[in-house]
Amino acid sequence: MRFTRLRLNGFKSFVDPTDLVISQGLTGVVGPNGCGKSNLLEALRWVMGENRPTAMRGGGMEDVIFAGAATRPARNHAEVSLVIDNAERTAPAGFNDADQLEITRRITRDVGSAYKVGSKDVRARDVQMLFADAATGAHSPALVRQGQISELINAKPKARRRILEDAAGIAGLYQRRHEAELR
Ligand code: ATP
Ligand code: MG
Repeated sequence: MRFTRLRLNGFKSFVDPTDLVISQGLTGVVGPNGCGKSNLLEALRWVMGENRPTAMRGGGMEDVIFAGAATRPARNHAEVSLVIDNAERTAPAGFNDADQLEITRRITRDVGSAYKVGSKDVRARDVQMLFADAATGAHSPALVRQGQISELINAKPKARRRILEDAAGIAGLYQRRHEAELR
């Protein structure tokens, strides 16, 4: 599973439609303070099903919607799409019938979030399970947040173990076991 495109519309400071091509290899985001680097990484986590407002540096989930600026009114919704190259067919069963997957999450004020894979409506949980494996999960250490390195260094042993389990790919298994127990 390789990310190839990220599209944003009305998400935080990305008020205008923005289409980013993600090339193979390591991707770095550079730019002056406040230009939206962290917002980009948050968009990536968000479309993968992140549901903790604190992980988006907000007080509520609707804080990801463009809040308006001196010259532009606030938006009513925000949308992020992530395109994944699935040529190697490594996506989980149920999502594995195409060379390319496009996952879209849209949030509307007073309504909440809706998810799609391709043109099909899916549940939040379907998207979260699609990304449950360590290499790509919303909480994955593959996405290194600002300040996270010093957190790791200062973490207590139990918290550090959790990070290592994520890196080893065990976290997705825990989530699947939890799902199985709920059924
Ligand atoms: P730094 O280099 O300081 O870490 P950065 O490039 O990571 O900066 P971000 O934190 O991604 O910058 O972007 C911050 C900008 O996003 C601020 O100008 C903030 O006002 C804007 N922003 C955040 N949420 C919203 C929102 N809901 N609506 C409009 N703008 C927003
Ligand atoms: Mg930042």
